[in-house]
Formats: sequence, C-alpha cells, structure tokens
Amino acid sequence: MYQCKDIADEVNNYIDGDLTIGKRIGLFFHLLLCSCCRNYLQQIRSTISIVTVARPKEQNDTDIDTLAKQLHNLCHQEHDHNQI
Ligand SMILES: [Zn+2]
Repeated sequence: MYQCKDIADEVNNYIDGDLTIGKRIGLFFHLLLCSCCRNYLQQIRSTISIVTVARPKEQNDTDIDTLAKQLHNLCHQEHDHNQI
C-alpha cells in the first residue's frame, strides 16, 4: 500500500509517465483514497506549468522536486493527515 511519502517521492515520475504499470496503479489508488495527495498533485501540476513557462526545461528537475516536498509537507501539516 502506498503512503503519502511515496506520493512525494514518485510524483514527478507519475506526472512524466515514467513509472511501471504496477506503481502507477498503486499511486492511482492512493490518490483515489487520499484527497490531500490529490490536492497535492494538482498543486504540483500547476507549479510545473508555471515553472516550465518561466524557465528552460533542463533546469526544472531539482527545483520542482524540492518544491514538491515542501508543498507536500505544508499540505500534511494543515490537514493533520492520517497515514494507514
Ligand atoms: Zn496521501
């Protein structure tokens, strides 16, 4: 079973379509169950579109990864989210 921290680790690969089918299904089911991670994924997607417009694509990876984890931590603090 995937947990919220796994979403944070894999979200960039998930968005890029760079995961095995088993992982994609695991993340997909976590997202179905976890509204916090759905909001998080939504935030990442809009962040990526903003950053992609503002910067050359090659420089994105590190920044987005850091930002993704910060956003995720913020989200989980605000909602006091319970992990299974
Ligand atoms: Zn979650």
